[in-house]
Amino acid sequence: MITVFLGPPGSGKGTQAKKLSAQKQWPQLSTGDMLRLAISEGTPLGQKANSYISAGALVPDDVVIGLIRERVSRPDCEAGFILDGFPRTIPQAQALDQLLSEQSKKIAGVALFEIADSELVNRLTGRRTCPSCGSMFHIDTLKPKKAGVCDQCGTTLAQRDDDKEEVIRKRLQVYSNQTFPLVEYYRTQGKLFVLDARKSPEQVMTNLVDQLKSLK
Ligand code: AMP
Repeated sequence: MITVFLGPPGSGKGTQAKKLSAQKQWPQLSTGDMLRLAISEGTPLGQKANSYISAGALVPDDVVIGLIRERVSRPDCEAGFILDGFPRTIPQAQALDQLLSEQSKKIAGVALFEIADSELVNRLTGRRTCPSCGSMFHIDTLKPKKAGVCDQCGTTLAQRDDDKEEVIRKRLQVYSNQTFPLVEYYRTQGKLFVLDARKSPEQVMTNLVDQLKSLK
């Protein structure tokens, strides 16, 4: 089953994608994680992506489409996968449809994580991420057991550079201009279902799993 997680930064799609991935054994394909890995390894791709990410802008379509094209062709994607943070533009969505149809596959459903911008700034400025395994925490609402340390792997938590307030505002603007049109794109295809992302992570997960059961 192929699912797309769509929503603004901080809406919880990464957290839910990780949980669902562990539960269903579907890999989580996060273009954000792939790009951050490339940056930390100092590859040419990472060097190219870094300037866009730190400015809160989108990395060019051809770069992320290339990453996804390569990743979905790996054997662990056979039974299904979760797209977390891809597509983010209409050309990316069109390229994905094309890529999947070449493999006689299709998207089963698109989960829209719906939440107001006003809630997102606080969520993102308080967010702390594990640079090693990608687990996410919040300084007030989702504290790790030991302050500043990842519960999963013991690595020191960090604040992402793009989780600083000025960059967050830019990312939210980019979401509404470039990514939000995908809501209509997938609604028209009859694939969209909406989740109330203000709810607790447990409640969002329950609603997500319920919705997935009704997909073909
Ligand atoms: P994320 O971890 O999904 O919030 O992504 C962090 C940053 O990586 C974004 O703000 C973009 O700069 C870049 N990025 C991630 N996914 C994409 C994508 N599908 N298209 C373009 N840029 C992306």
